[in-house]
Amino acid sequence: MTMISDFLELGLSTELLNAIAELGFEKPTPVQSTIIPRLLVEDGDIVCLAQTGTGKTAAFGLPTLEYLDINNTATQVLILCPTRELCRQICQDLTNYSKYLEGVKIVPVYGGAGIQGQIKELGRGAHIIVATPGRLLDLIKRDAADISGIRTLILDEADEMLNMGFKDELDAILSQAPEGRRSLLFSATLPKEVERIAMSYMKKPDIVTVGQRNAGSDNVEHFYYMVREDDRYAALKRIADYNPDIYAIVFCKTREETQKVADALQKDGYDADALHGDLSQAQRDHVMGKFKRRALHMLVATDVAARGIDVNDLTHVINYNLPQEIELYTHRSGRTGRADKKGVSIAIINQKEKGKIRRIEAVIKKEFTRLPVPGAREICERQLSHLINEINNVEVRDDIYTFMPTINEMWDSLPKEELVKKILSYEFNRFLDYYRKAKDLNIPEKEKKEKKAKDASGNKKNSATESNETARKDKKARDGNPGECEKGFVWLRINLGYKNKVIPRDIISIMKACGIGKKSVGKIEIFNEFLYVALKDSVAGYARSQLNGASYDRRRLSASIIEK
Ligand code: ADP
Ligand code: MG
Repeated sequence: MTMISDFLELGLSTELLNAIAELGFEKPTPVQSTIIPRLLVEDGDIVCLAQTGTGKTAAFGLPTLEYLDINNTATQVLILCPTRELCRQICQDLTNYSKYLEGVKIVPVYGGAGIQGQIKELGRGAHIIVATPGRLLDLIKRDAADISGIRTLILDEADEMLNMGFKDELDAILSQAPEGRRSLLFSATLPKEVERIAMSYMKKPDIVTVGQRNAGSDNVEHFYYMVREDDRYAALKRIADYNPDIYAIVFCKTREETQKVADALQKDGYDADALHGDLSQAQRDHVMGKFKRRALHMLVATDVAARGIDVNDLTHVINYNLPQEIELYTHRSGRTGRADKKGVSIAIINQKEKGKIRRIEAVIKKEFTRLPVPGAREICERQLSHLINEINNVEVRDDIYTFMPTINEMWDSLPKEELVKKILSYEFNRFLDYYRKAKDLNIPEKEKKEKKAKDASGNKKNSATESNETARKDKKARDGNPGECEKGFVWLRINLGYKNKVIPRDIISIMKACGIGKKSVGKIEIFNEFLYVALKDSVAGYARSQLNGASYDRRRLSASIIEK
């Protein structure tokens, strides 16, 4: 099948094309170019497996709207989804797509909100009902919703609906839906239960997999930090401080943990709040509203509460604790790296959880990179340069000029350098204070060595051969001396090479993790066993100290500066 790369070729009407153009959709995503033409010209049932963030809503939404008979007031389309947030999101998306179609009525119905209002809404007519299963069933029982005339039934995030225990409700609804309908099922994964639903209620569905099943989004990079169990929260704070522009969902295991972490973050002065099932609908709306407005930088949430949150430009997804089920990790990390943007998924783990990382790697078919937890100095450097950037970019308004005489008078005797120090300290002292006593959260290598020695007896000889081996190999590869590096830069040699499948981007990421920005990184030369990266004089020593002993890809790093 050729891939259609232009919305114009999909066969949609001008009204829809105009609306999506206004939304900034330039090219169809792979799910859209696969699914839309099929929905427009064929009429079989389809099970579509695609990871989160791939544009499934428009994939089923656009053809559905295309075929809607607006003059017929009966409900023609039923969309089922797992949560109220998702319900409203789908409704909003469809409303956006149908901006230029007159008279389309889309009604969302979900639990946790007054049923009377929904009954009234439905009474005014609904071409499309977007519903959570429990509430819909309730409304059908009360004769407020009528699905007997639907032509299309869409199960969105079917796996999640089943995860949330909607099995009985789904069975009840599906068995009541009219025979002649078309059924579409969307899911990120295909567990047994979803397969059962597909086999029992769909007509010989065609299973379409778009992208790699279960695979993490290609735009997402996966990192982990390994710390002691007690340092989990401290590590989260370091991550937040190290990323002054953070806009993240922090996933926790339980409601209690979610609340605890959010409370602690608030107490420590972060713009963070909790989202979980113990909150009332009004509270949840309030928190979501703040997060969408970016008045919150970190949303601490449970998996269930975070379903359907549609925020596109998350900088990070943070696994404060890894989920029990690997599938949930896919869902979580799929919340970042959406619509072609780069995403970062971070897991904070303790020493015993490395196995979990390996299991996730096997499923998502991607490797995690271990990063050293940023230390005091790098965090302070990052914060400082962030602050300086903010100051540089601030808009100077005319009003300030009327105050300049007073300002000049008060600061007249203060040399510029002093003034800069004072202004920066004013903003920055709290970081300096906090990090003055900050310890290294990384699990020291010594501890691991001791453990190793305990684990295996008589390994002295082994390690000796090992280091000889390394030395020998290095010598053999010595022919790869680096060329000249940039002026003001020095070569840092690191014991990673092509053999470890590193590419220059990995080096940039490693440096970034050490707090060293792209500007301080020069040429990179990769050989088989090791590589050279040119670093600004001023940061090279620091990079060496950060990298020595850290691990990367199950390998302990050693770094040394090549003196010219
Ligand atoms: P999924 O249901 O597969 O998780 P969504 O349908 O929620 O994904 O889409 C994810 C995000 O990508 C949404 O914010 C949506 O507006 C955006 N999006 C969808 N299709 C396109 C496109 N063709 N171009 C740009 N953005 C898109
Ligand atoms: Mg979706």
